[in-house]
Amino acid sequence: MSQHVFRGLAASSGIAVASVLVVRDVEIGSEGSGVTPDGPARAVKALGSVAADLARLALAARNGGRDEEAEILEANLLMAEDPSLLVEVEQTAATMPAAAAVTKVTERHAALLAELDNEYLAARAADIRHLGQRAARILTGGGAMPRPERPSIVVARDLGPADVAELELSEGLVVGIALAEGAATSHVAIMARALGLPMSVALGETLLTAHDAEEAVLDGDNGFLVLDPTTAVRAQAERAIQGLEEERRLLAATRGLPAVTTDGRELRLLCNAATVAEVDAGLEAGAEGVGLLRTELAFLEAPRWPSVADHRAALEWPLAQLDGRVATVRTLDFGADKTPPFLTGIEERGLRLALSHPSSFVAQLKAILQTGRDTSLRILLPLVESERQFRTARSLLVEALHEVDWQGPTPELGAMIETPEAAGQAGAIAGVADFLSIGTNDLVQYTLGLDRELPLATAQAAADPAVLALIVRIAEAAHSANLSVEVCGEAAGELPVTVLLVGAGIDELSVSPARVDAVRGLVRSISADDARAAVRSALTASSAVEALAIARELIDAGPSSGTARSDNGLSGVVA
Ligand code: PEP
Ligand code: MG
Repeated sequence: MSQHVFRGLAASSGIAVASVLVVRDVEIGSEGSGVTPDGPARAVKALGSVAADLARLALAARNGGRDEEAEILEANLLMAEDPSLLVEVEQTAATMPAAAAVTKVTERHAALLAELDNEYLAARAADIRHLGQRAARILTGGGAMPRPERPSIVVARDLGPADVAELELSEGLVVGIALAEGAATSHVAIMARALGLPMSVALGETLLTAHDAEEAVLDGDNGFLVLDPTTAVRAQAERAIQGLEEERRLLAATRGLPAVTTDGRELRLLCNAATVAEVDAGLEAGAEGVGLLRTELAFLEAPRWPSVADHRAALEWPLAQLDGRVATVRTLDFGADKTPPFLTGIEERGLRLALSHPSSFVAQLKAILQTGRDTSLRILLPLVESERQFRTARSLLVEALHEVDWQGPTPELGAMIETPEAAGQAGAIAGVADFLSIGTNDLVQYTLGLDRELPLATAQAAADPAVLALIVRIAEAAHSANLSVEVCGEAAGELPVTVLLVGAGIDELSVSPARVDAVRGLVRSISADDARAAVRSALTASSAVEALAIARELIDAGPSSGTARSDNGLSGVVA
């Protein structure tokens, strides 16, 4: 066979060279077509066994400190145990074979969720569908996942969180994932990124013609898989892997050094986190503290507004790790793709939503103050729309400070600027805030009308001249008011965009723990003057692609240590 390239989307960074292990689709028909008296009981039992797997895998993730993964698996467990789902499966299995019944009912539930045109619920739709497939696999005698016997790139149509968690228990033998379908925002993609497993998705139906043991090269940075690669492709992939390892070693050796440009401009490097494991990972990588603690993620399945005690329980442990360091705690950013069941159907989001429930907002502020006393505490408000709205939030903070009998300096209160309208009012908002933070994930979406389906592309789209102009404007507004300005969206960790942020005068970068080393390496390899010049030309570019190319030139002209390379060299050889 000769080399075959499957192109799709990048979902988790990294490169793998290994043989392929194919997870075949479940063949419902193989169970036979008849209705059997024990069908309903078998169908319910299969879902019970999926639930037991999920409980076991969630516990293993929790014990391993992988909280994000555990949370996804626990949410799936709740779905697998949903009594209404079980009753419907039992009734349907009285009229058709058990595997077909489980598939039919889970597909129906998934379709209902997918119709709601809400990305977060769409991810849950995919999860329900995967639960059904896992149960159907058990019913048709296929067992759970195949077991790798050597380092393998797993190829499948799509996988669910339980499948990935199970593959991960294969003692490091799974080195990458390639999916014919799937999305870069799926729970599986989030897990792959947390595990550092390269992954490409949406590679197309023909991917499923691959055979076990065929050699492959997977590029999770550029979103492709090469089956039966040529010697040249394989050699470049191996060089790139070695380069990445060397790069990681060099970058890790600079932990403890400041994020300072070659001409002496020092930035504060912080990390984004939602769990203790992420706080720990960020600090270990040398982040000075947390620049964005997302608090809503702990309550996405909440049945009501969280109480002071609920908030305290969620905050206590992550904040305890920060002892004396910067802790930027963002108040709940419910709404849109982060809507818990009790708020289904609401249209408001962020601070506007919080202010329409002032007692719940004050409850969270009190919990933040009580649990953040030993940190260098800052409170951040999501999606601020106006100066007036910010003032209202500040008056509620004053109330909360009084209620907890706060002693000492008042924590800084910051505004997240995440829409073009808010950017237009950045001067007025800076007049009442203590610091500004730019949420590029939303700013890109609201400015360019892209959705967040493809986070990697969204991060790069922050280089679009229209978005860049807003970033420059917000930074100027902050500086005119003598405030510092942070960027905490994914773009801060996307190296070519990082160059432009340095050039735009951003003071603080808050990135995912996995990007801390790379961002520090980049900042230390460029001059602020050159970055400013890059911004000037990028502002006149005709597209994000052209602006990124301008920034990449600066990266590639930097020191040859490899610490800030922008390309793994594979695309060129494969093309
Ligand atoms: C952002 O929008 O860039 C951001 C950091 O907030 P979130 O991703 O939580 O919406
Ligand atoms: Mg946001």
